[in-house]
Parts: sequence; C-alpha cells; structure tokens
Amino acid sequence: MPELPEVETVCRTLREPLVGRTISAAVVTWPRTVEPLDPGDFTARVSDATVDAIERRAKLIVARLSTGDTLTTHLRMTGKLLYTRHGATPPEEPERHLRIAYELDNLDMLEFFDARKFGRVRLHTAEEWDDVSASYGPEPLDPDFTSDWLYQRLRATTRQIKPLLLDQKFIAGIGNIYADEALFLARIHPLKPANTISRRKAEALHQAIVSVLSQAIANAGTTLRDYRSGSGAIGMNKPNLNVYGAPPGTPCPRCGARLKRLVVGQRGTTICPRCQRLR
Ligand SMILES: [Zn+2]
Repeated sequence: MPELPEVETVCRTLREPLVGRTISAAVVTWPRTVEPLDPGDFTARVSDATVDAIERRAKLIVARLSTGDTLTTHLRMTGKLLYTRHGATPPEEPERHLRIAYELDNLDMLEFFDARKFGRVRLHTAEEWDDVSASYGPEPLDPDFTSDWLYQRLRATTRQIKPLLLDQKFIAGIGNIYADEALFLARIHPLKPANTISRRKAEALHQAIVSVLSQAIANAGTTLRDYRSGSGAIGMNKPNLNVYGAPPGTPCPRCGARLKRLVVGQRGTTICPRCQRLR
C-alpha cells in the first residue's frame, strides 16, 4: 500500500499540471469509490471547481477546490491517480479498472484507476476537512515532530511499538514498509512496549523515521507492484530497503544474521533477531 513517500510523490507530480485547472466534467464508473455521496452528487459538486492547491495529509492526496470543498483520494491497495495531457498516450491501465475520470478545462484528463476497488475518494466541506485532518497524528516530516515529542509520547503508552507507528492517530503516513525499515535502523524490536524504549532509542527511532521517509521521497517512492506516481512512473526506492520484503533467511545487511519473519498485529514483519532484541 502506498505510504507517505509514495503519496507525497503523487502530490508533487500532480501539482504542476493540476493547480489552476478547472474540472469541466467528471464521470464515476464505480459508485462505491465516492461513497457516501452518490455519483450524481459527487460529479455535480466537483464540476466547474478549480483546483487551488494540491497537498498531502497522512496518506491522502488532498485537492483544495475553489468551491470550498476539499477532495481527498486514498489510494489504499491498488489505486493510481494518473494525469494525461491532451493528445498524449493514455495510461497503460485496463479500462475496466477506471473508477473516476475527470476532464479538465484544457482537455487534459485526471483518472483514478483501482483494480481492487479499496481506494476511496471523498468530498469534504471546510469544516468536515478540519475534523478529518485533526483526527490524524503529526506529520513526521514537519518540524513539530521532534525526538522529544516522540519520547514523551512513547513513555505514555504500553502499546507495542510497531502497531503504534502504524496507528495514523499517533503519527501520520507510516505503513508496513517504513515501520519495518525505521525499526530496523533504530535496532528496536517491533513488539517492544513503547514505554520501555529509552530516550537514546527514541532519538534513534526519530532519526530513522525521518531518514527512511526522506530517502524514499528523494527516490520517488517504493514500487513493489502497483504503485505509480501521478505521471505513471514507478518509484525507485526499492533497492534502499534493508529488511522489508526480504525473504526469511536473507542475511541481515548490518550483521549477517538471518532475517526472521513475524506477524505483528496481523501484519507481516521482517526483523533481524540479532540487531532487534526484545530482551
Ligand atoms: Zn542484524
């Protein structure tokens, strides 16, 4: 599933072509994608709206519209939000995976493809959006996410560290890939209760989170299978992953011990049993 760096990359690739454009028409071909609105209400509310800004919040692609509405796209498993210039070759996606097509005032197209149909596109009023945004934890690349903030928040809970990092209310945008990578870099076992993590380890974790996310953004995200940027490009960060997706038994890139696979909160998790000890 796309995480913060992938969604950030989509936002960056869509910003230049999309900001300032007006949506002249929209077609919803899979009604559940826009629930709870019905397709007619959705298309009526986005038609003739100008895109004032493209932002990211957590794993949401956020389009601020001139109507005051905020249009959010959550890619979930297989969603792709692809921009095609008028006259350019259309995306190499099966037509049957198209869920929403937006036509823009310059005849360019923005299309949401989603093979598995878990992706969600929502329209929020200004007030609704404030509530949605406030329901997420801090952005890990914002200045207010500091190692001291992290340490204080870890001290306050006995929850296991990996499920805590995946909790979007605790911190925004981290998923399975970057949680495993950050815990590996910081040498923290994913099952460790948060309140038993020392200040020194919390500092290492803070640094690891910022570093894995920044590196992935610099490489336009990690494509394992489905993820594409807004221009259809694959992400180049996969070679930088240390543990995520490595088959059990692969040597640890740091110490050479054999990597191990665990299930933590129903999520597959790869660790080095020597570097990441539970004690
Ligand atoms: Zn190791």
